[in-house]
Amino acid sequence: MMSAKATKSTAAELYRFLASLKREERLYEVIFFVTSVCNAKCRTCFYWKELNRSGDLSLDEIKTLTRTMPSFHHLILSGGEPTLRRDLPEIVRLFSVNNHIRFLNFPTNGLKPIIARDFTRRMLVENPQLTISLNFSVDGLAQTHDRIRGVPGNFHRIERAIEMVQPLRREWGKRLWVGINTTICRENYREVVPLAHYFLERELLDGHYFQIIRGDPLDPGLKKIPGSHLRELYSDIVRIQEAYAARAFQDDDPRARWLKRMIYVGTLNFHHRIQFANYTCGASWPMPCTAGQTSIVIDYNGDVRACELRGSLGNLRDYDLDFRAFWQSVVRAREVEQIERDRCFCTHVCFIHDSMRFSLRAQLLEVPKSYMMRHAWQRPRWPSPLARRQRSARSRHAPLSAPAPPTSPSE
Ligand code: SF4
Ligand code: SF4
Repeated sequence: MMSAKATKSTAAELYRFLASLKREERLYEVIFFVTSVCNAKCRTCFYWKELNRSGDLSLDEIKTLTRTMPSFHHLILSGGEPTLRRDLPEIVRLFSVNNHIRFLNFPTNGLKPIIARDFTRRMLVENPQLTISLNFSVDGLAQTHDRIRGVPGNFHRIERAIEMVQPLRREWGKRLWVGINTTICRENYREVVPLAHYFLERELLDGHYFQIIRGDPLDPGLKKIPGSHLRELYSDIVRIQEAYAARAFQDDDPRARWLKRMIYVGTLNFHHRIQFANYTCGASWPMPCTAGQTSIVIDYNGDVRACELRGSLGNLRDYDLDFRAFWQSVVRAREVEQIERDRCFCTHVCFIHDSMRFSLRAQLLEVPKSYMMRHAWQRPRWPSPLARRQRSARSRHAPLSAPAPPTSPSE
Protein backbone atom coordinates (compact mmCIF):
# COMPACT_ATOMS: atom_id res chain seq x y z
CA MET A 1 0.00 0.00 0.00
CA MET A 2 1.27 3.47 -0.86
CA SER A 3 1.34 6.06 1.90
CA ALA A 4 -0.75 9.24 1.53
CA LYS A 5 2.50 11.17 1.15
CA ALA A 6 3.67 8.93 -1.70
CA THR A 7 0.29 9.18 -3.46
CA LYS A 8 0.38 12.98 -3.19
CA SER A 9 3.92 13.11 -4.56
CA THR A 10 3.02 10.80 -7.48
CA ALA A 11 -0.03 12.91 -8.30
CA ALA A 12 2.14 16.04 -8.20
CA GLU A 13 4.68 14.42 -10.57
CA LEU A 14 1.91 13.36 -12.93
CA TYR A 15 0.36 16.84 -12.86
CA ARG A 16 3.72 18.48 -13.57
CA PHE A 17 4.32 16.03 -16.42
CA LEU A 18 0.88 16.57 -18.01
CA ALA A 19 1.09 20.35 -17.59
CA SER A 20 4.46 20.35 -19.35
CA LEU A 21 3.15 18.52 -22.42
CA LYS A 22 1.37 21.33 -24.22
CA ARG A 23 3.97 23.88 -25.22
CA GLU A 24 3.71 27.00 -27.29
CA GLU A 25 5.85 26.70 -30.41
CA ARG A 26 8.54 29.28 -29.75
CA LEU A 27 12.33 29.21 -29.52
CA TYR A 28 13.30 26.53 -27.01
CA GLU A 29 16.73 25.27 -28.06
CA VAL A 30 19.80 26.90 -29.60
CA ILE A 31 22.78 24.94 -30.94
CA PHE A 32 25.78 27.25 -30.88
CA PHE A 33 29.06 26.27 -32.56
CA VAL A 34 31.04 28.31 -30.12
CA THR A 35 34.36 27.99 -32.00
CA SER A 36 35.75 26.45 -35.14
CA VAL A 37 38.99 25.48 -33.39
CA CYS A 38 39.52 21.79 -32.60
CA ASN A 39 42.42 19.69 -31.31
CA ALA A 40 41.11 16.30 -32.52
CA LYS A 41 40.86 14.66 -35.94
CA CYS A 42 37.75 12.52 -35.59
CA ARG A 43 36.94 10.43 -38.64
CA THR A 44 33.27 10.62 -37.63
CA CYS A 45 33.25 14.44 -37.63
CA PHE A 46 30.51 15.97 -39.83
CA TYR A 47 31.94 19.49 -39.36
CA TRP A 48 35.50 18.76 -40.52
CA LYS A 49 35.40 21.16 -43.50
CA GLU A 50 34.68 24.09 -41.14
CA LEU A 51 37.31 23.32 -38.49
CA ASN A 52 40.25 25.55 -37.56
CA ARG A 53 39.14 28.52 -39.61
CA SER A 54 39.20 32.15 -38.55
CA GLY A 55 36.07 34.20 -37.95
CA ASP A 56 34.66 33.02 -34.57
CA LEU A 57 32.09 35.49 -33.25
CA SER A 58 33.79 37.72 -30.65
CA LEU A 59 32.53 38.05 -27.08
CA ASP A 60 31.22 41.55 -27.89
CA GLU A 61 29.33 40.20 -30.89
CA ILE A 62 27.85 37.42 -28.76
CA LYS A 63 26.82 40.05 -26.19
CA THR A 64 24.87 41.95 -28.88
CA LEU A 65 23.39 38.73 -30.17
CA THR A 66 22.16 37.54 -26.77
CA ARG A 67 20.62 40.95 -26.02
CA THR A 68 18.46 40.61 -29.11
CA MET A 69 17.46 36.98 -28.51
CA PRO A 70 14.37 35.94 -26.55
CA SER A 71 14.51 33.79 -23.42
CA PHE A 72 14.87 30.11 -24.26
CA HIS A 73 15.47 26.91 -22.33
CA HIS A 74 18.29 24.79 -23.78
CA LEU A 75 21.71 25.93 -24.96
CA ILE A 76 23.68 23.20 -26.72
CA LEU A 77 27.33 24.05 -27.23
CA SER A 78 29.06 22.64 -30.27
CA GLY A 79 32.16 23.30 -32.34
CA GLY A 80 35.08 22.78 -32.68
CA GLU A 81 36.04 21.93 -29.14
CA PRO A 82 34.24 24.22 -26.66
CA THR A 83 37.02 24.05 -24.01
CA LEU A 84 39.41 25.74 -26.46
CA ARG A 85 37.34 28.91 -26.26
CA ARG A 86 38.94 30.66 -23.28
CA ASP A 87 35.98 32.96 -22.69
CA LEU A 88 33.45 30.09 -22.61
CA PRO A 89 32.22 30.82 -19.05
CA GLU A 90 31.64 34.48 -20.00
CA ILE A 91 29.67 33.36 -23.07
CA VAL A 92 27.48 31.05 -20.99
CA ARG A 93 26.99 33.86 -18.47
CA LEU A 94 25.67 36.11 -21.28
CA PHE A 95 23.09 33.50 -22.30
CA SER A 96 22.22 32.99 -18.67
CA VAL A 97 21.68 36.70 -17.89
CA ASN A 98 20.13 37.79 -21.18
CA ASN A 99 18.19 34.68 -22.22
CA HIS A 100 17.56 32.96 -18.88
CA ILE A 101 18.69 29.56 -20.13
CA ARG A 102 17.96 26.71 -17.73
CA PHE A 103 19.88 23.84 -19.28
CA LEU A 104 23.36 23.71 -20.80
CA ASN A 105 24.63 20.78 -22.84
CA PHE A 106 28.43 20.99 -22.66
CA PRO A 107 30.06 18.38 -24.91
CA THR A 108 33.83 17.90 -24.87
CA ASN A 109 36.38 15.57 -26.42
CA GLY A 110 38.10 15.43 -23.01
CA LEU A 111 41.54 16.45 -24.27
CA LYS A 112 41.64 19.37 -21.81
CA PRO A 113 40.50 17.72 -18.55
CA ILE A 114 41.51 20.56 -16.20
CA ILE A 115 39.83 23.23 -18.30
CA ALA A 116 36.65 21.11 -18.64
CA ARG A 117 36.49 20.70 -14.84
CA ASP A 118 37.31 24.34 -14.05
CA PHE A 119 34.85 25.74 -16.60
CA THR A 120 32.11 23.43 -15.33
CA ARG A 121 32.66 24.50 -11.73
CA ARG A 122 32.70 28.18 -12.69
CA MET A 123 29.51 27.92 -14.74
CA LEU A 124 27.72 26.12 -11.89
CA VAL A 125 28.78 28.80 -9.39
CA GLU A 126 28.03 31.78 -11.64
CA ASN A 127 24.64 30.60 -12.97
CA PRO A 128 22.54 29.34 -10.06
CA GLN A 129 19.50 28.50 -12.21
CA LEU A 130 21.49 26.34 -14.61
CA THR A 131 21.60 22.55 -14.88
CA ILE A 132 24.66 21.36 -16.79
CA SER A 133 24.95 18.15 -18.75
CA LEU A 134 28.69 17.61 -19.24
CA ASN A 135 29.12 15.01 -21.95
CA PHE A 136 32.37 13.35 -22.93
CA SER A 137 32.59 11.92 -26.43
CA VAL A 138 33.77 8.32 -26.18
CA ASP A 139 33.57 6.05 -29.21
CA GLY A 140 35.21 2.85 -28.00
CA LEU A 141 37.68 1.29 -25.61
CA ALA A 142 41.22 2.71 -25.69
CA GLN A 143 42.53 1.50 -29.06
CA THR A 144 39.30 1.90 -30.99
CA HIS A 145 38.54 5.30 -29.51
CA ASP A 146 42.01 6.69 -30.25
CA ARG A 147 41.91 5.31 -33.80
CA ILE A 148 38.50 6.87 -34.54
CA ARG A 149 39.34 10.20 -32.90
CA GLY A 150 42.84 10.42 -34.45
CA VAL A 151 44.56 11.31 -31.15
CA PRO A 152 46.84 8.78 -29.38
CA GLY A 153 46.12 8.63 -25.63
CA ASN A 154 42.71 10.35 -25.96
CA PHE A 155 40.83 7.57 -24.13
CA HIS A 156 43.11 7.76 -21.08
CA ARG A 157 42.78 11.54 -20.97
CA ILE A 158 38.99 11.19 -21.01
CA GLU A 159 39.14 8.69 -18.15
CA ARG A 160 41.22 11.20 -16.22
CA ALA A 161 38.76 13.98 -17.04
CA ILE A 162 35.82 11.86 -15.84
CA GLU A 163 37.61 11.09 -12.57
CA MET A 164 38.46 14.77 -12.10
CA VAL A 165 34.81 15.86 -12.22
CA GLN A 166 33.64 13.32 -9.61
CA PRO A 167 34.03 15.77 -6.68
CA LEU A 168 31.88 18.28 -8.61
CA ARG A 169 29.30 15.58 -9.29
CA ARG A 170 29.06 14.82 -5.57
CA GLU A 171 28.99 18.50 -4.61
CA TRP A 172 26.38 19.71 -7.12
CA GLY A 173 24.01 16.73 -7.19
CA LYS A 174 21.29 16.98 -9.84
CA ARG A 175 22.58 20.31 -11.15
CA LEU A 176 25.43 18.45 -12.83
CA TRP A 177 24.85 15.39 -14.98
CA VAL A 178 28.00 13.73 -16.26
CA GLY A 179 27.55 11.49 -19.26
CA ILE A 180 29.10 9.93 -22.31
CA ASN A 181 28.06 10.34 -25.92
CA THR A 182 28.95 7.48 -28.23
CA THR A 183 28.68 7.81 -31.99
CA ILE A 184 27.92 4.39 -33.45
CA CYS A 185 29.86 3.70 -36.64
CA ARG A 186 31.16 0.78 -38.69
CA GLU A 187 34.37 0.59 -36.69
CA ASN A 188 32.88 0.43 -33.19
CA TYR A 189 29.42 -1.15 -33.33
CA ARG A 190 30.76 -4.42 -31.89
CA GLU A 191 32.49 -2.60 -29.04
CA VAL A 192 29.68 -0.30 -27.95
CA VAL A 193 28.20 -2.71 -25.41
CA PRO A 194 31.54 -3.66 -23.76
CA LEU A 195 32.32 0.06 -23.60
CA ALA A 196 28.95 0.80 -21.97
CA HIS A 197 29.47 -1.94 -19.36
CA TYR A 198 32.99 -0.72 -18.64
CA PHE A 199 31.64 2.67 -17.56
CA LEU A 200 28.37 1.43 -16.05
CA GLU A 201 30.24 -0.80 -13.60
CA ARG A 202 32.53 2.03 -12.49
CA GLU A 203 29.55 4.20 -11.43
CA LEU A 204 31.19 7.43 -12.57
CA LEU A 205 28.41 8.61 -14.86
CA ASP A 206 24.76 9.67 -14.82
CA GLY A 207 23.98 8.55 -18.36
CA HIS A 208 25.32 7.07 -21.57
CA TYR A 209 23.80 8.21 -24.89
CA PHE A 210 24.15 6.70 -28.34
CA GLN A 211 23.83 8.30 -31.78
CA ILE A 212 24.29 6.91 -35.26
CA ILE A 213 27.03 8.60 -37.25
CA ARG A 214 25.43 11.41 -39.28
CA GLY A 215 25.97 14.03 -41.95
CA ASP A 216 29.02 14.03 -44.20
CA PRO A 217 31.82 12.56 -42.04
CA LEU A 218 35.55 12.79 -42.74
CA ASP A 219 35.58 9.00 -43.33
CA PRO A 220 32.33 8.14 -45.18
CA GLY A 221 33.11 4.40 -44.93
CA LEU A 222 32.26 4.60 -41.21
CA LYS A 223 28.58 5.08 -42.13
CA LYS A 224 28.14 1.50 -43.33
CA ILE A 225 26.76 -0.22 -40.25
CA PRO A 226 24.89 -3.49 -40.88
CA GLY A 227 21.21 -2.91 -39.97
CA SER A 228 20.88 -6.45 -38.57
CA HIS A 229 23.57 -5.72 -35.94
CA LEU A 230 21.97 -2.41 -35.13
CA ARG A 231 18.79 -4.15 -34.00
CA GLU A 232 20.76 -6.33 -31.57
CA LEU A 233 22.74 -3.34 -30.40
CA TYR A 234 19.63 -1.29 -29.59
CA SER A 235 18.26 -4.23 -27.67
CA ASP A 236 21.37 -4.18 -25.44
CA ILE A 237 21.38 -0.38 -25.21
CA VAL A 238 17.87 -0.41 -23.70
CA ARG A 239 19.18 -2.46 -20.77
CA ILE A 240 22.06 -0.05 -20.27
CA GLN A 241 19.66 2.86 -20.15
CA GLU A 242 17.32 1.06 -17.77
CA ALA A 243 20.31 0.65 -15.44
CA TYR A 244 21.09 4.38 -15.58
CA ALA A 245 17.42 5.27 -15.07
CA ALA A 246 17.23 2.97 -12.02
CA ARG A 247 20.19 4.80 -10.49
CA ALA A 248 19.07 8.30 -11.42
CA PHE A 249 15.64 8.00 -9.80
CA GLN A 250 16.38 5.59 -6.97
CA ASP A 251 15.61 8.20 -4.29
CA ASP A 252 12.12 9.01 -5.62
CA ASP A 253 9.05 7.32 -4.18
CA PRO A 254 8.02 4.17 -6.13
CA ARG A 255 5.30 5.55 -8.43
CA ALA A 256 7.10 8.80 -9.26
CA ARG A 257 10.14 6.62 -9.89
CA TRP A 258 8.17 4.42 -12.31
CA LEU A 259 6.88 7.48 -14.20
CA LYS A 260 10.32 9.04 -14.49
CA ARG A 261 11.87 5.78 -15.61
CA MET A 262 9.12 5.29 -18.16
CA ILE A 263 9.71 8.79 -19.59
CA TYR A 264 13.52 8.45 -19.55
CA VAL A 265 13.75 4.98 -21.10
CA GLY A 266 10.70 5.48 -23.36
CA THR A 267 12.08 8.76 -24.75
CA LEU A 268 15.51 7.31 -25.48
CA ASN A 269 14.04 4.15 -26.98
CA PHE A 270 11.69 6.27 -29.12
CA HIS A 271 14.66 8.18 -30.53
CA HIS A 272 16.47 4.88 -31.21
CA ARG A 273 13.39 3.52 -32.99
CA ILE A 274 13.24 6.65 -35.15
CA GLN A 275 16.95 6.44 -35.94
CA PHE A 276 16.72 2.73 -36.73
CA ALA A 277 13.67 3.17 -38.99
CA ASN A 278 15.28 6.10 -40.74
CA TYR A 279 18.65 4.38 -41.12
CA THR A 280 17.47 0.99 -42.31
CA CYS A 281 14.51 1.89 -44.52
CA GLY A 282 14.31 5.66 -44.84
CA ALA A 283 11.13 5.92 -42.74
CA SER A 284 10.07 9.44 -41.79
CA TRP A 285 9.36 10.63 -38.25
CA PRO A 286 5.95 10.05 -36.66
CA MET A 287 5.76 13.80 -35.84
CA PRO A 288 6.52 17.07 -37.64
CA CYS A 289 10.06 18.48 -37.37
CA THR A 290 10.06 21.89 -35.65
CA ALA A 291 13.58 22.93 -36.75
CA GLY A 292 13.66 26.67 -37.46
CA GLN A 293 10.65 27.28 -35.20
CA THR A 294 11.62 25.89 -31.81
CA SER A 295 15.32 25.38 -32.48
CA ILE A 296 18.03 27.12 -34.44
CA VAL A 297 21.71 26.53 -35.26
CA ILE A 298 24.26 29.35 -35.04
CA ASP A 299 27.66 28.59 -36.54
CA TYR A 300 30.98 29.85 -35.16
CA ASN A 301 31.06 32.67 -37.75
CA GLY A 302 27.44 33.80 -37.34
CA ASP A 303 25.93 31.71 -40.13
CA VAL A 304 22.48 30.59 -39.13
CA ARG A 305 20.56 27.44 -40.13
CA ALA A 306 17.26 25.80 -39.25
CA CYS A 307 19.14 22.57 -38.56
CA GLU A 308 22.63 21.16 -38.99
CA LEU A 309 21.66 19.33 -42.17
CA ARG A 310 20.11 22.19 -44.11
CA GLY A 311 21.83 25.12 -45.79
CA SER A 312 22.68 28.52 -44.37
CA LEU A 313 19.88 31.10 -44.17
CA GLY A 314 22.37 33.97 -44.01
CA ASN A 315 24.83 35.40 -41.55
CA LEU A 316 23.86 37.20 -38.37
CA ARG A 317 26.64 39.74 -39.02
CA ASP A 318 24.57 40.88 -42.02
CA TYR A 319 21.77 41.62 -39.54
CA ASP A 320 24.21 43.55 -37.27
CA LEU A 321 23.93 40.64 -34.81
CA ASP A 322 20.27 41.52 -34.31
CA PHE A 323 18.75 38.08 -33.84
CA ARG A 324 15.24 39.52 -33.70
CA ALA A 325 15.62 40.90 -37.23
CA PHE A 326 16.69 37.48 -38.48
CA TRP A 327 13.93 35.69 -36.56
CA GLN A 328 11.27 37.92 -38.10
CA SER A 329 12.76 37.69 -41.60
CA VAL A 330 11.01 36.31 -44.66
CA VAL A 331 13.93 34.00 -45.24
CA ARG A 332 13.33 32.13 -41.95
CA ALA A 333 9.55 32.00 -42.52
CA ARG A 334 10.15 30.51 -45.99
CA GLU A 335 12.53 27.90 -44.58
CA VAL A 336 9.93 26.79 -42.03
CA GLU A 337 7.35 26.43 -44.81
CA GLN A 338 9.89 24.58 -46.95
CA ILE A 339 10.66 22.10 -44.15
CA GLU A 340 6.93 21.40 -43.88
CA ARG A 341 6.72 20.86 -47.66
CA ASP A 342 9.92 18.78 -47.89
CA ARG A 343 8.83 16.43 -45.11
CA CYS A 344 12.56 15.68 -44.77
CA PHE A 345 13.86 13.41 -42.04
CA CYS A 346 17.16 12.45 -40.49
CA THR A 347 18.69 10.73 -37.47
CA HIS A 348 19.71 13.93 -35.67
CA VAL A 349 19.06 13.45 -31.99
CA CYS A 350 18.82 17.14 -30.99
CA PHE A 351 16.03 17.80 -33.48
CA ILE A 352 14.24 14.53 -32.74
CA HIS A 353 14.13 15.40 -29.04
CA ASP A 354 13.20 19.01 -29.61
CA SER A 355 10.40 18.13 -32.04
CA MET A 356 9.17 15.46 -29.61
CA ARG A 357 8.61 18.15 -26.95
CA PHE A 358 6.08 19.85 -29.20
CA SER A 359 4.19 16.74 -30.29
CA LEU A 360 1.39 15.44 -28.06
CA ARG A 361 1.33 12.27 -30.14
CA ALA A 362 5.01 11.66 -29.39
CA GLN A 363 4.64 12.33 -25.68
CA LEU A 364 1.32 10.65 -24.98
CA LEU A 365 1.51 7.74 -27.40
CA GLU A 366 4.98 7.08 -28.80
CA VAL A 367 7.03 7.49 -25.61
CA PRO A 368 4.84 5.16 -23.48
CA LYS A 369 4.61 2.73 -26.43
CA SER A 370 8.39 2.79 -26.83
CA TYR A 371 8.73 2.01 -23.14
CA MET A 372 6.30 -0.91 -23.33
CA MET A 373 8.11 -2.21 -26.45
CA ARG A 374 11.59 -1.66 -25.08
CA HIS A 375 12.46 -5.35 -25.15
CA ALA A 376 10.87 -6.01 -28.55
CA TRP A 377 13.99 -5.20 -30.56
CA GLN A 378 14.73 -8.85 -31.22
CA ARG A 379 11.32 -9.28 -32.81
CA PRO A 380 11.23 -7.20 -35.99
CA ARG A 381 7.88 -5.51 -35.36
CA TRP A 382 9.05 -1.97 -36.10
CA PRO A 383 9.63 -0.48 -38.64
CA SER A 384 6.94 -2.74 -39.99
CA PRO A 385 6.67 -2.05 -43.77
CA LEU A 386 10.27 -3.01 -44.57
CA ALA A 387 10.40 -5.79 -42.01
CA ARG A 388 7.21 -7.29 -43.45
CA ARG A 389 8.56 -7.07 -47.00
CA GLN A 390 11.86 -8.66 -45.93
CA ARG A 391 10.10 -11.45 -44.05
CA SER A 392 7.77 -12.29 -46.90
CA ALA A 393 10.67 -12.19 -49.42
CA ARG A 394 12.65 -14.54 -47.22
CA SER A 395 9.79 -17.00 -46.83
CA ARG A 396 9.30 -17.05 -50.62
CA HIS A 397 13.02 -17.48 -51.35
CA ALA A 398 14.37 -19.83 -48.69
CA PRO A 399 17.04 -20.40 -47.43
CA LEU A 400 16.93 -17.65 -44.82
CA SER A 401 19.52 -14.92 -45.02
CA ALA A 402 20.28 -11.89 -42.88
CA PRO A 403 18.71 -8.59 -44.02
CA ALA A 404 20.95 -6.74 -46.47
CA PRO A 405 23.08 -4.05 -44.81
CA PRO A 406 22.08 -0.50 -45.70
CA THR A 407 24.20 1.09 -48.38
CA SER A 408 24.22 4.37 -46.53
CA PRO A 409 22.16 6.23 -43.98
CA SER A 410 19.57 8.61 -45.32
CA GLU A 411 20.89 11.76 -43.74
S1 SF4 B 1 33.84 15.57 -33.77
FE1 SF4 B 1 34.20 17.29 -32.37
S2 SF4 B 1 36.15 16.78 -31.38
FE2 SF4 B 1 36.01 15.53 -33.19
S3 SF4 B 1 37.10 16.68 -34.81
FE3 SF4 B 1 34.90 17.18 -34.95
S4 SF4 B 1 34.67 19.02 -33.74
FE4 SF4 B 1 36.63 18.09 -33.15
S1 SF4 C 1 13.94 16.43 -40.23
FE1 SF4 C 1 16.17 16.56 -39.94
S2 SF4 C 1 16.94 17.34 -41.92
FE2 SF4 C 1 14.74 17.80 -41.85
S3 SF4 C 1 14.58 19.87 -41.01
FE3 SF4 C 1 14.36 18.42 -39.31
S4 SF4 C 1 16.42 18.20 -38.45
FE4 SF4 C 1 16.63 19.09 -40.51
